[in-house]
Amino acid sequence: MAAKVAIIGGGIAGSSVALFLAQEGYDITLFEQESSLVSGPPMCHLHAGGNLYPDISDEQCIKLLKQSIELIGYYPHTIDYRPTLITYPKSSQENPKELHRRLDMLQIIYKELTQQDSTNKRLGEPENYFKSYSYKEAKALQHNPLAVKEPKTLDEWMIQTLREIDLEQLQYPLFIVQEYGLNLFRIAASAELMLQKLPNVTLKLNTKAQTLSRSQDKWLVNEESFDYLINAAGFRSGIIDDLIGKKRSRLVEFKAAYVSRWEKQEHLFPEIIFQGKRGTPEGMGQFTPYPAGYYQLHGMTQDITLYPHGLVKSSPLSAQPRLSSEFLQKIEQKWEWSEVEQRTQAAIRHISRYMPAFSSAKVAAKPLYGAQQIPGEDATLRASEVSFESENYARCETVKASSVFTMAKDIAADMQTKGLIKATTQNVPHYTKEDVDKLATQIAASREYPKAMAGITTLFPAT
Ligand SMILES: Cc1cc2nc3c(=O)[nH]c(=O)nc-3n(C[C@H](O)[C@H](O)[C@H](O)COP(=O)(O)OP(=O)(O)OC[C@H]3O[C@@H](n4cnc5c(N)ncnc54)[C@H](O)[C@@H]3O)c2cc1C
Repeated sequence: MAAKVAIIGGGIAGSSVALFLAQEGYDITLFEQESSLVSGPPMCHLHAGGNLYPDISDEQCIKLLKQSIELIGYYPHTIDYRPTLITYPKSSQENPKELHRRLDMLQIIYKELTQQDSTNKRLGEPENYFKSYSYKEAKALQHNPLAVKEPKTLDEWMIQTLREIDLEQLQYPLFIVQEYGLNLFRIAASAELMLQKLPNVTLKLNTKAQTLSRSQDKWLVNEESFDYLINAAGFRSGIIDDLIGKKRSRLVEFKAAYVSRWEKQEHLFPEIIFQGKRGTPEGMGQFTPYPAGYYQLHGMTQDITLYPHGLVKSSPLSAQPRLSSEFLQKIEQKWEWSEVEQRTQAAIRHISRYMPAFSSAKVAAKPLYGAQQIPGEDATLRASEVSFESENYARCETVKASSVFTMAKDIAADMQTKGLIKATTQNVPHYTKEDVDKLATQIAASREYPKAMAGITTLFPAT
């Protein structure tokens, strides 16, 4: 008989690990306390190269690049293939020089990956991984009269975009990069479509893992016996550690992104980043396009995405960092609409400093928000890994979604080392893009977001 695995938490980590281990032939039970999968903190950006984070190491950037390529393979209908324009305003304390060096390095690595295995070519042609634009080149494109409804080349993506941006406020060069979007609702739908069909997965939705203990070499979860336990409980992972008496140091951070609508726009935009120092009034602004004129906005300032006291850490007495009730109320109940309006308006103002016409955008829906964990004490960590304890216990401490299959593979290797028995391997269940369209739309509506946000703006790899 195949070894029985309990996974606590059906976010992107728990769902992806369930998918991977079920394919390997293990007997999986996934406990998720909510009524659907991947309903925790949001995700909109694939981070293929980590270029939004000037402060992380080259090593983390390379990991994020490789992990993102892998994730696309598992969730092919979830990617919005629009590129990302990265700019450094003159007001920013950082400058674009360092990014240029990093992009050159990542381009070489991406090229090598595609030469080693042609199926890795998931970010478009390596030659087009990024392109830089001087002030003169940007000005020339800004005045290019071409109207491109469905941009294909990087220059075509830039033309319409640069018309909306105040070029005098930026440092040069500008960079457009094949860092794509990742649609939260489509991940939720894809995970559900696959896991529902796998015969060796028991999906326990609306089921909280409440009681946990160890008895005669087995884990008991809600009285049911398992050979291996995986903690994928997201920002609540410390509660599981505390229940079974494991010490762990981690951070938890509450953040929110805001949903706006800018109706006048008929053109497609790339994601646009206005870099700036995190936590200051100049903090990075992130403009993420969805279909039908919806734009998700981040502003890495204390009055937009970040919150005073929003970052908390564990203590020697508890592995669970304690978020204040202000944040738990938002996560578990709801937001005051006045705060939604206030913070979304602040986000619109933040972006329209560099895109003046965007000031006419309106508040469109409740924010996309939540708390996420960061293992250890380094708040800048982005590419995280699985951590193991004795007694067949693993934790998926996800910081960025793309790390989840690396975690799954590491867990599979640990289970193999421990001699846990597998049954027959399973194929990935068949499902189509149309299945994802339909279920993702239902999921967006059931979570009270505009149905259009379940769609993607760009279906083909930008070249
Ligand atoms: C505003 C914001 C924007 C973000 N943007 C991005 C982005 O663009 N790209 C990116 O890669 N990442 C992004 N992130 C980070 C990303 O959201 C997280 O890394 C990711 O969602 C973590 O996934 P997870 O599966 O580990 O945890 P979660 O999604 O939190 O899943 C944990 C699940 O466990 C369940 N659970 C907990 N305890 C129990 C229990 N006892 N019994 C049963 N179920 C339980 C919860 O209900 C939850 O569904 C963002 C985060 C925030 C806050």
